[in-house]
Amino acid sequence: MDKIVYILGAGFSKSANAPLQSELIKEIFNIKNNELNSDYRQIFFEYREDFKRFLSNTMFIDEMNFEKVCLEDIYTPIDRCIIDNLAFRNISPKELIDLRQKINGLIIIMLNHKLTRTKGNHIEKFSKYLIDIRKKNINNDPFAIISTNWDILIDNSLKSEIISSEGVVDYCCYTTPYNTNEPVMPGLLALGKGKYNIKLLKLHGSMNWLYCKRCQRLFVTFFEKIALNEYVTRPICRLCERNFQNELTNDGGAFLSSQLIMPTFLKDLNNVQLKLIWQNAGIELAEASKIVFLGYSLPMADFELRQLLARNVRHNAKIEVVLHSSDKTSSKNSNSTEYRYSSFFGKRDISFSYDGVEEYVKKITNAR
Ligand SMILES: [Zn+2]
Repeated sequence: MDKIVYILGAGFSKSANAPLQSELIKEIFNIKNNELNSDYRQIFFEYREDFKRFLSNTMFIDEMNFEKVCLEDIYTPIDRCIIDNLAFRNISPKELIDLRQKINGLIIIMLNHKLTRTKGNHIEKFSKYLIDIRKKNINNDPFAIISTNWDILIDNSLKSEIISSEGVVDYCCYTTPYNTNEPVMPGLLALGKGKYNIKLLKLHGSMNWLYCKRCQRLFVTFFEKIALNEYVTRPICRLCERNFQNELTNDGGAFLSSQLIMPTFLKDLNNVQLKLIWQNAGIELAEASKIVFLGYSLPMADFELRQLLARNVRHNAKIEVVLHSSDKTSSKNSNSTEYRYSSFFGKRDISFSYDGVEEYVKKITNAR
């Protein structure tokens, strides 16, 4: 049985208004006071002042050039200092944890503000196409989706296309419904009940997840970017609250926190649910006869995904890379995306297209 693994990068969501990683800082500073909901307007602008001070005083960057700073160059020294309990220039280790939390908050609030669902786009068409294929192959496992994105555009699109009596979106880890009235059925249970699952492995976390650091449960919902709640409503794990009522003074460590893996060279993938996702992603890659990269540039900074690919992609797997016309530079240029892919995948059969993901989705849906 042939299996296709689709790997989604930022370019997959870009045309649906999701900012690229290199645009996150610019977008944070572009937000105007009147644009945000009053629930989190105040904290956003407070955090932004702190971030501004950090960029100016600690990083020594001119305000004009804030948007040029790589996020890896912000997060990596912060993470190194936190792990080694060191001060980062003028900031103590304890304050650094707080600062990191605020920068995460800025990104989450900004993304929540920017990401809106658009109807009839390539993401909806792609979701319909995949669900159709899945339904026709109930007893097989024809594809899996691996995403490096935090946005929930495809999650929502799949979820709204799947008739809930028939199938589930399967994050390939243990999930708990965030809303008690919302059934979230694990993928394996769905299969056992004669339903189908659509595997969506989100390697860098997701805007619709919250994690309990106490019991390690991952709370999940759809259509709502609950990562934001960490900064707004500060929810507590209802199961820890039930089991340990008397012990939970103040928060007892049961405050739920967002699960977004930030751009850093010191990625912390120790969370048990993320480990499951990464392990399952390795298995999916090993089973794939074809891997299709959609809007993904294989950056060196994604060294964790690169090692996963190096360890698991079969020698005889076909590699298809779908990029945008703006990605096209000479394949001999060692900074080009094509060069990165060709040198990485070596003797494997690899093909490139520069027509963009929308054209790719149009092509596969028309070909059926
Ligand atoms: Zn808990």
